[in-house]
Amino acid sequence: MKTRVFFSVLVIATTLFSSSCTSNNGKSAPVAPKNVVVMIGDGMGTAQVYSLILTSNEKTSFERFPYTGFSITKSASNEITDSAAGGTAIAIGKKTNNGVIGMNSDSIPVPSMLDILAEQGKKTGVVVTCSVTHATPADFIAHNISRKNNEEIALEISEKERLDVLFGGGKKYFTERNDKEDLIEKMWKNGWNIYDSLPQITDNNARTMVLTCRKHMKKASERGDYLPKATAKVLEMLDNENGFFLMVEGSQIDFACHDNDSATMVDEMRDFNKAINVVLDFAEKDRNTLVIVTADHETGGLSIIDPDGKYTKTNFHFSTGSHSAVFVPVFAYGPGAENFTGIMDNTEIISKILEIVR
Ligand SMILES: [Zn+2]
Repeated sequence: MKTRVFFSVLVIATTLFSSSCTSNNGKSAPVAPKNVVVMIGDGMGTAQVYSLILTSNEKTSFERFPYTGFSITKSASNEITDSAAGGTAIAIGKKTNNGVIGMNSDSIPVPSMLDILAEQGKKTGVVVTCSVTHATPADFIAHNISRKNNEEIALEISEKERLDVLFGGGKKYFTERNDKEDLIEKMWKNGWNIYDSLPQITDNNARTMVLTCRKHMKKASERGDYLPKATAKVLEMLDNENGFFLMVEGSQIDFACHDNDSATMVDEMRDFNKAINVVLDFAEKDRNTLVIVTADHETGGLSIIDPDGKYTKTNFHFSTGSHSAVFVPVFAYGPGAENFTGIMDNTEIISKILEIVR
């Protein structure tokens, strides 16, 4: 009896497996995710992740990923990348010079994975805790010669044909502009719904921008659960039968590390960790979502040491107020996640995603 039950389960499992994973000639076909979520911890090197693990009582989201790798972060111009070039490499798959947004090293705009997947009919969204015009979000939704051109980047966002949901800060670049334009008013006229807090959203299907502050949001200890809540809301808004692309950034891990402020760094890591758990819970249920968590670069040259060299205590030790040239981790979950192991260039992440997504 037991044998028969086991055999039936095996037959069902084999049938399910072959319909989704094996092509007619018996060779295994790539498993295709419908949804893609890329999450970037700005400035998050392996020591930042380890800091979270050391200070957490529970298992962290990072330990839920079955596949991990390393990404090479150098830019076209520098061994130490900035966020503009680091994020651009992930977003468009081309190395560029530090400071450049969504363009290759010849200053030619290149479509980002958000642009490409939107063109393929997927809904798209971006969620950050910095200004939406800041380097990392801009890398996915804009193309500009300099990250400093916040007002030009806001103008490009306002004219973007394909982008469904955008949550972050940076209202001043839309309304307090040198050209005196009110981009928010223009966007309302063009069909966007624009608010300054998440609970104001009434229509999950409308193109929606929520800008909660003039520039960057407050630090994690003061802004509460904004990032995990915004992440849950955007997943609800983007989920549809054609699939979606979402980029979520833990934007202020970088800010805390620039300040060599380890307490705030851990707070920011905890906040990002919660947002990752929200996405993994969704992906676990959905079973059709590829989740990639990585970083654009490491910030602060962080190490965790005993200054006395006796192994008796651990101190957070920052060696710079800037970025460093080290590997950053890549974590992958979901259909196709097995492609994200080993050492990869940051430009390979997009090609790996576009090869397997359906
Ligand atoms: Zn930075």
